[in-house]
Amino acid sequence: MNRFSSICKASGETSIMAALSQVVRSARYAWSAPCTAVGLFVALLALPFGVRASIVNSVIEFAISPGKGRLRAMLPSLPFRAITLGHVIVGCSHSELCRVRSHEAVHVRQYERWGPLFFLAYPASSLIQLLRGKRPYLDNHFELQARAVAESTEGDAAFRAIAAPPGPERL
Ligand SMILES: [Zn+2]
Repeated sequence: MNRFSSICKASGETSIMAALSQVVRSARYAWSAPCTAVGLFVALLALPFGVRASIVNSVIEFAISPGKGRLRAMLPSLPFRAITLGHVIVGCSHSELCRVRSHEAVHVRQYERWGPLFFLAYPASSLIQLLRGKRPYLDNHFELQARAVAESTEGDAAFRAIAAPPGPERL
């Protein structure tokens, strides 16, 4: 085999791998699409608060940016600082989204793996922990996994040192 055919073969293998990678990526998006649809619906509900949307790492992030008055007063009473639903993350603010991004990215991967079944698997894990006498949120298998990855991310640790966490994030 000469050098030219080696390059062609390598190039062909690379394009096949790229095509396969694209198929797998598309399948993950399709599998988690029902969850993403729910996420878009939640983002729609947040519209009255004022929402800023952006796409970060192929995920749609919605940062709630409340104006003044009653809507702003209601925001701290929400039971979460950020929530991931498929390829959608809704956060209480842009800085909050930055703070929890690597944690929520793990949840995105979990949705890609579990698809709509994640809506059953997550609460099931919480229920199992509750029945074991543990904390349903903090000891949830998916939360443990997300925290482990996020805590190992250097950038997150540096950001946490700057931004004090105002409360726990959900999902
Ligand atoms: Zn979480």
